[in-house]
Amino acid sequence: MSARIIDGKAIAATLRAKIRQYVAELGYQPGLAVILVGDNPASTVYVRNKDRAAREAGIAARTIRLPAATSEAELLATVAALNDDPSVDGILVQLPLPEQIRAQAVIDAIDPAKDVDGLTQVNAGRLLAGVRGLVPCTPLGVMKLLAAAGVSLTGARALVLGRSVLVGKPVAALLTAADATVTLAHSRSRDLPAECRRAEVVVAAVGRPEMVRGDWIAPGAVVIDVGINRLPEGRLVGDVAFAECAAVAGAITPVPGGVGPMTIACLLENTVTAAMLRRA
Ligand code: NDP
Repeated sequence: MSARIIDGKAIAATLRAKIRQYVAELGYQPGLAVILVGDNPASTVYVRNKDRAAREAGIAARTIRLPAATSEAELLATVAALNDDPSVDGILVQLPLPEQIRAQAVIDAIDPAKDVDGLTQVNAGRLLAGVRGLVPCTPLGVMKLLAAAGVSLTGARALVLGRSVLVGKPVAALLTAADATVTLAHSRSRDLPAECRRAEVVVAAVGRPEMVRGDWIAPGAVVIDVGINRLPEGRLVGDVAFAECAAVAGAITPVPGGVGPMTIACLLENTVTAAMLRRA
């Protein structure tokens, strides 16, 4: 293996410690409310981890658990109450939502100033407009990993694989803002291996286990693997074939222990940012 491993777990731990220190000096406790509808096992674990990490950072976290049969109107009423609650700085609605609820309608009901997941259309628009707002946690985590690894983005050819609203599109916007030359590829793109081989920075967010192969990667390229895929035998893998790509890349993130821990650390950072902007 030749690639340097970008240790997301360690980088996230450093960021969480900084946030804890910062919160301790704030003079008030930022508040985070996480809403979980139903009992999707993965969501339940994510919410528990977010709640624990927030508490450890000194954030007043609360999880609101609603039954799977909750109506959209009931969920909107819960969001409205949190919007009006001055002790709440950040609101996160854990996705996915049950099918009777329109996710975007609920997300857009969140006060943009409390939208710590950065998914309201207002914050998505601010990101494209280059105006300060709250940036989605996983894309923010990707940028922090690149910064911590000392990757120079100015003029760099970057390929983002996946164009979701949650990951691919905001990552492409952030890389563009950081002066990279960005290609945004997706399921209709032609010749992905060739697109990938041109890139000095590859960010994979497709949700396809180990799709990116070693011979897709240019020697020395930086590879950030956002994917989290559970194989039938239970093992977690990313969207990148790790061993093959690590043999060629200059630096690479592992799964687990890469982007995942950064997502939670960035949620804490966004909560503190939201608190400071609201209470300034
Ligand atoms: P989505 O399913 O919303 O989007 C997947 C994107 O990948 C789409 O744009 C799709 O293209 C594209 N795609 C799918 N198949 C292919 C293919 N064969 N070739 C090229 N492009 C393809 O997923 P998300 O963006 O929400 O998540 C992506 C991955 O990241 C998942 O594994 C998810 O679990 C993980 N994730 C990890 C997080 C973390 O904290 N580490 C947080 C969020 C997600 P098209 O638009 O054309 O359909």
